Amino acid sequence: MAEKQQFVTQIADINEDFSQWYTDVILKTQMVDYGPVKGTMVIRPYGYGIWEQIQKELDARFKETGHENAYFPMFIPESFLRKEAEHVEGFAPEVAWVTHAGDEELAERLVVRPTSETIICAMYSKWVQSWRDLPLLYNQWCNVVRWEKSTRPFLRTSEFLWQEGHTIHETAEEAQEETLRMLEVYREFAENVLAIPVICGRKSEKEKFAGAVATYSMEAMMLDGKALQAGTSHFLGEHFAKVFDIQFLNKDGQLQYVNQTSWGVSTRLIGGIVMVHGDKRGLVMPPKVAPIQVVILPIAPHKEGVNEKAAELFTLLKKAGIRVKLDDRDASPGWKFNEWEMKGVPVRLEVGPKDIEKGQVVLVRRDTLEKLFVPMEDLAETVQALLAQIQVNMLEKARAFRDAHTITATDWDTFRQAIEDKCFVYASWCGERECEDAIKEATGATTRNMPFDGKKVSDVCVHCGKPSKYHLYFAKSY
Ligand SMILES: [Zn+2]
Repeated sequence: MAEKQQFVTQIADINEDFSQWYTDVILKTQMVDYGPVKGTMVIRPYGYGIWEQIQKELDARFKETGHENAYFPMFIPESFLRKEAEHVEGFAPEVAWVTHAGDEELAERLVVRPTSETIICAMYSKWVQSWRDLPLLYNQWCNVVRWEKSTRPFLRTSEFLWQEGHTIHETAEEAQEETLRMLEVYREFAENVLAIPVICGRKSEKEKFAGAVATYSMEAMMLDGKALQAGTSHFLGEHFAKVFDIQFLNKDGQLQYVNQTSWGVSTRLIGGIVMVHGDKRGLVMPPKVAPIQVVILPIAPHKEGVNEKAAELFTLLKKAGIRVKLDDRDASPGWKFNEWEMKGVPVRLEVGPKDIEKGQVVLVRRDTLEKLFVPMEDLAETVQALLAQIQVNMLEKARAFRDAHTITATDWDTFRQAIEDKCFVYASWCGERECEDAIKEATGATTRNMPFDGKKVSDVCVHCGKPSKYHLYFAKSY
């Protein structure tokens, strides 16, 4: 027991210092380390394993909705970025420039992609002639670089991994449909795979993507009450098409600009998993993205038949498609329990001489710490069912937490208090930028999004008292 407590003290108390807890957990579980260049991260195998599951799940959904993967260069000519005024204004402060090749200065500076709208548009303009060429539904898995001043692994780093979808369509209606279709793909994925409940809706003008007509987001609540923008989908209209001259001959034989979308999620989601599900012992991984779903620990392995039984169960579960690990290292069970608990492995399976005698194993759930004694017979089915149950329970738990920390405010005092109490606030707002800025200045909270089913709260703005235009969520955010 002393050993166990000692291990837990390696991580800061989640209730006392959430930020330090986050840093401790991601470093000590070996998900990530700091790169030698400030603001960069090294994603270690345990973290990358989560990203691989995210990629696999999302990629299948993208293909299912008709998208294809492609790859575009990471170097973008400066002139491309400068073509779109809002876009360059939005990204210029944080782009990394390439000025030299060897000793030679380049004739034109290059940016390392902060996002790929410009280079993809330049190519689309070349590839599209007629309505028959449309739509183009491309996605790219890649890295992007945004030189951020303050960084945190997964949440905000100078280089990160993501996917960016870029589609062009004949009409604005089709592009709008696509924008919302992909937001829904993200929602379903976040809830059913990451077990993270999200609020979907439109961003304010201030918070939208540089160059978009409208930006939609999914917002998740972290355990410290802050929001994480977990994914975005943008309706770009004809904006970039006009700048990059993406025209096509429509069915009436007339030249027309395409309508466009872009959408993305990133390695930020891994930070979200940590901050939505973690507890004082460390990570709690949703089974569907857990790199290891079950860890098998032989108890009293020196006793006859224990190691053999553990190896047999390992093979059995592996054959059933479960991501399983057999931990037969020479270390005390207590030490191993703590390590796998900290790593958030959904199920721990213990098997010792007494269990073998009784024809049973012990399963311990990471989400509830509940201990179950189950027969070895039909073990694969039992474990599959338990993993499914854990997945559902984690989503329900996260949703209950969020709902308990969401407050509807009709007056400013309630609003301020709720933000101070680390809650999401749903309130009415006048829609004016100055008011949005003032709310942020006073409370640190920003507008998150206007949900699609957004119910009216009040006729007047919660802050300035002018007539209300929108009903939306406010929160502090990452
Ligand atoms: Zn106002």
